[in-house]
Order: sequence, then C-alpha cells, then structure tokens
Amino acid sequence: MELKGKCAIVTGAARGIGRGISLKLAEAGVNVALVDLGSPADPTLTYDLAAQTELNRTVEEVKSRGVRASAILADVTKWADCQRMAKEAEAALGAIDILCNNAGIIAVGPVESFAEETWNRLMDVNVKGVFLCSKACIPAIRKRGGGSIVNTASVAGKTGHGNVSAYCTSKFAVVGFTQSLAEELGPDNIRVNAVCPGFLHTAMWSDVLDPVVAPGLGVNREAAFDEYVARNTFLRRAQTPDDIGDAVVYLCRADNITGVALNVAGGAEMH
Ligand code: NAD
Repeated sequence: MELKGKCAIVTGAARGIGRGISLKLAEAGVNVALVDLGSPADPTLTYDLAAQTELNRTVEEVKSRGVRASAILADVTKWADCQRMAKEAEAALGAIDILCNNAGIIAVGPVESFAEETWNRLMDVNVKGVFLCSKACIPAIRKRGGGSIVNTASVAGKTGHGNVSAYCTSKFAVVGFTQSLAEELGPDNIRVNAVCPGFLHTAMWSDVLDPVVAPGLGVNREAAFDEYVARNTFLRRAQTPDDIGDAVVYLCRADNITGVALNVAGGAEMH
C-alpha cells in the first residue's frame, strides 16, 4: 500500500512507542489522529500514564513532519469513546486507512497476591481496547477498499514469564485476536498484523520493571535495564520507538503480509 496521503489512528500515541509509530507514519506521508487518555492517574496502576500536555506536544511534532494531525482524548476500554474516536478521526483527516492499536498498560506481581481489579483493568485496556477500537474502525477502513490494522503485542505474547502473568496473558490474547481478525478481514483487503517489541526504556520499564528485576540481576535500579538487555538479547542492545515505528510502517506497506506477529526484539524471541 502506498502510504503517502493515507490516514491513520494511533492509540496510546502521547509518548513512548505510540509516539514513535506516529512520527514514522508521518515521515511516510500519513496523516495521523493521535489518541490517548489525557489523565495520568489510574488507581489500579503503580505508575502514571501520559498527560494531555504530552499528547498535544506529540501532535505538534507530527504536524512538523508536514502532515495533518489531531489529538483525540479517548479511553480505549469504553465503546462510546471508541465510536467517537472513529468519527472524530474521519472528520479531522477525511478517512481511516490504518489503525494502530498500541495503548497498553503493565502491572507485575505473583498470581496469589495480584489484585482482581488490576487484572481486570489490564485485560480491559490491553485486550478489550484492541477489540473495541477495531470494531469501531473496520467500517471506515472497509469503505476505503482495504487498509491495515497493526496491534502492538509484545515478546511477552510469545513466551510467558513468572510475575508478569496478567501482562503475558493479555499479549498472547492480542496475538490470537490478530490471527483471527486477519482471516476475517482478508476478503475485504484489510490486513491485520501485530508487532512484538522486545525491551524499550519507556515508563513501563523505568517506573515498573526496573525496580522489580534489579535484585535478581544483582544490580541497582539504575543499571537494571541495561543489564537485562545485555543478558536477554543476541544484539546486546535495547530497541527504540523508531525501530517499532519502522516495523509498523513496513507492515502497513506490505500488501501480502497478514496475520503475522513480527518480533522487533534484537533476538530476544524467535517464534
Ligand atoms: P507507555 O506507558 O509510555 O505508553 C502507553 C500509552 O498508552 C500511554 O501514553 C498511556 O497514556 C496510553 N494509555 C494507557 N491506557 C489507555 C487507555 N485506556 N486509553 C487510551 N490510551 C491509554 O508505554 P510503551 O512502552 O510506549 O507501551 C506502548 C505499547 O507497547 C503497549 O501496548 C505495551 O504493552 C507495548 N510494549 C512495550 C514494551 C516496552 O519494553 N516498553 C515491550 C513490548 C510491548
């Protein structure tokens, strides 16, 4: 698919990987509707989500690449928000050709003490959010004669690990949903793929995982991420939002690729 002049929705776009995807799409000539919550506090989580100021700043960065961009505040777990998101994006950009389901959250801890409300919120954002945003956008993408949906899964959606059961479960679900929707929408020329990032030093690591993995690695919190990456990747380096953005752009262009879950993980996962 030629991307210049196409229109995309990216969820969880204010910062981190979503910001990287939005900027790379813009550099390929794609107009972008950037979606995020706009309220950092989530009582079920131990870290802050993005603020509205971050979303607005990223929208300005995307515009500076010479494409149209707009900010949409929406919670991907709410059907009414997802419907409004699709309408506002179509009104602002003129169409929807691409949907990047990237919004996601993390919580860690052993199953026996993991709070039920945290499990529910994680499944709501990471799994139901992908379903609801897809449901809301499919009619608009079909109207265009085809397009691309890219879901941000994770290497945690390929291999499970202790103390991250909720997160791993949610990302396995995203891979399964991707395969199912790829078959369902193939006849409509809508391709559905997932990207599986490895390790990026976004809020998920700096605010949540660094302090958890540090003791097991025998290092302090500040050194934990680099040590983890050195031990768990063939290439001995972390991935960046640009790397994930490049992979998403590739999956959007690739006319004969659907139903894949592409690792961008420096060799951390091969299946
Ligand atoms: P991040 O916390 O910086 O970004 C997540 C974004 O999603 C934030 O801007 C947040 O405000 C937004 N968001 C959260 N809940 C939302 C909701 N209900 N509605 C709308 N927006 C919501 O973290 P990130 O690392 O950039 O994560 C992006 C995606 O990449 C997630 O799906 C995550 O699971 C996945 N991922 C991250 C890594 C990593 O190493 N950082 C690895 C694999 C996969």
